[in-house]
Amino acid sequence: MKPKRFRALVLIVALSAAVFAVPADADDGEFMIVFPQPSEATEFANTWGNSRSDGRSHQGTDILGPQMAPVVAAADGVIESFGYGPRSGYYIVVSHQDGYETWYMHLNNDTPGTDDGRGAPEYTYMVGLDVGDQVVAGQQLGFAGDSGNAEWTTHHTHFELHRNGRAINPYKYLQAAWERWQLELQIEREEVPFR
Ligand SMILES: [Zn+2]
Repeated sequence: MKPKRFRALVLIVALSAAVFAVPADADDGEFMIVFPQPSEATEFANTWGNSRSDGRSHQGTDILGPQMAPVVAAADGVIESFGYGPRSGYYIVVSHQDGYETWYMHLNNDTPGTDDGRGAPEYTYMVGLDVGDQVVAGQQLGFAGDSGNAEWTTHHTHFELHRNGRAINPYKYLQAAWERWQLELQIEREEVPFR
């Protein structure tokens, strides 16, 4: 095929992909996030839909990590709410552009280094954050823990991604964020001269 004709074909394919693009509320994988719990010893797996108590299914990804690991805003946004629920424990919700929200649950409720359930607000959330505050991607919101129904489990943040009021599987977004983060770390290491 002649290069010119090939370019025309590529253009047609690209245009039809744009025209027949999935609707705006779909799980299109286009939301760019930073990894919301940047600590060493972080583990996460795709457990979307796994069964949970009372016939519920898992609507997020559990990001395992040490107690007090930083929990950061996954993208620029506005703090929508803080709260406590018997299942979620201490949580925070951030709203973002294009109808996205990120939810962070089971934040720390203990005195650091213990499992005493007697934490203080400054060991749960970053001091001074308020509903309506603007946050930027990577800004620390709080600390990882085991509050709510995570009390007798490994410390982890239950992370949810919602779009237009519907939970979508955050796993591939986290995976992409994780890969970008590891690449950045690698670049940083390589830029530091050997001494
Ligand atoms: Zn979970």
